[in-house]
Amino acid sequence: MNEEHSKALYDRALSVMPGGVNSAVRAAIEPYPFFIAKGDGGHVVDADGNRYIDWVMGLGPLLLGHDLPEPVAAAVQRHASRGPMYGTPTEVEVELAEFVVRHVPSVEKIRFVNSGTEATVSAVRLARGYTGRNAIVIMQGGYHGAQESTLVEGDAQGAHPSSAGIPQSFAEHTIPVPFNDEETVRAVFEERGEEIAAVMTEPVLANYGIVHPEEGYLECLRELTAEYGSLLIFDEVITGFRVGGLGCAQSRFGVTPDLTTFGKVIGGGFPVGAVGGRAEIVGELAPAGPVFQAGTFSGHPVTMAAGLETLRFAAENDVYDHVNDLGDQLREGLTELLADRAPEYTVVGTDSLFKLIFTREGPDPKSHEEQCVSGCRQESTCPRYDHCPKTGADVRRSETDRWRRLFWGEMKARGIFLSQNGFESQFVSYGHTEADVERTLAAYEEAL
Ligand SMILES: *Cc1c(COP(=O)(O)O)cnc(C)c1O
Repeated sequence: MNEEHSKALYDRALSVMPGGVNSAVRAAIEPYPFFIAKGDGGHVVDADGNRYIDWVMGLGPLLLGHDLPEPVAAAVQRHASRGPMYGTPTEVEVELAEFVVRHVPSVEKIRFVNSGTEATVSAVRLARGYTGRNAIVIMQGGYHGAQESTLVEGDAQGAHPSSAGIPQSFAEHTIPVPFNDEETVRAVFEERGEEIAAVMTEPVLANYGIVHPEEGYLECLRELTAEYGSLLIFDEVITGFRVGGLGCAQSRFGVTPDLTTFGKVIGGGFPVGAVGGRAEIVGELAPAGPVFQAGTFSGHPVTMAAGLETLRFAAENDVYDHVNDLGDQLREGLTELLADRAPEYTVVGTDSLFKLIFTREGPDPKSHEEQCVSGCRQESTCPRYDHCPKTGADVRRSETDRWRRLFWGEMKARGIFLSQNGFESQFVSYGHTEADVERTLAAYEEAL
């Protein structure tokens, strides 16, 4: 595979950008990332003309794939040519807000911002302002963007910053707990419940695994937070408008948080974030309330138009049926392959999310037929139940080096672009086809 152009571009990039990239994870591709020239449906073409089936999809935003359907493309161009932004309100942001309020159970009011990080920063500040408390409970292995309160490692006994540049005193307000572990979170509330402003979690850990919640876990978080006067924040930056369709993961699991953060899909491929929730809480944001929040680009007309037309297109077409159906085909196909190739590995994901985790142990391969067929659901009756990852730590114990350093390159050599490491989810889009799924499964079969 010729990669001369990507190599030369990376050489130039290293001279002028830290690590040669503008977002840390992009440099995980070794020896150097390939530079993309253009997208095409479910594919990308790199700077040297190599074509890949793209299961990264911008790391989540591109629900419709790389070719924006006509109404989305037209709305983007219309709004871009009109200004493109003003620093005053526009109709399209009201329309997108109304759309989200209509479809997502927890959202009565919403504030749009410019990234998922900004959304979770705002949600944490809002929860602290509303409750008058400081502590935030998060999940080990959860990801909430590049923000001070959540770039934290450790456990309930002690947390420290996971990045240079964050004061230890900030980390003292963050309490990391293992996902799917009711006992630990109950103990944390018994000890410090009156200090806890919020529990913030992805409903499905999608940046570290993918880890599905065990039955009753999200309900447990809902009950505990309500009992102690803390807020429950679902970070739906990935799951929003992917898992559970237009109702998001909260409608799938039937658990309604107080606040929800959005990003990725809700901007239709343009920079976006949002925090929504109960009117009484979101109404605490400035200028309605005392919690300051503002942004020059917030509610940008081009982004709002792209998001609105993307979601309308999904509402009026078979988008979720298509992506979830291909997701099932991928997960079922992988489960099938593993039976004789690598019975210790775990297929994870739901709806249009999928991933193969290189777990080190599995059940008797003969029990294959009784396993969760379309991605791990943490079913206690599944023969894999004792082996499938339930926490971030379980995922970390998998063969992440083999995944990233050997397997990823084998797939790339076969024209399949998977997410850059053994942790992050892969995404099906409306631009993908059954032929893409078949080619991808054939590549897995060879590479495993
Ligand atoms: C991507 C992501 C973020 C951060 O969003 P950015 O737009 O990259 O700042 C936050 N939370 C979750 C769950 C994410 O997946």
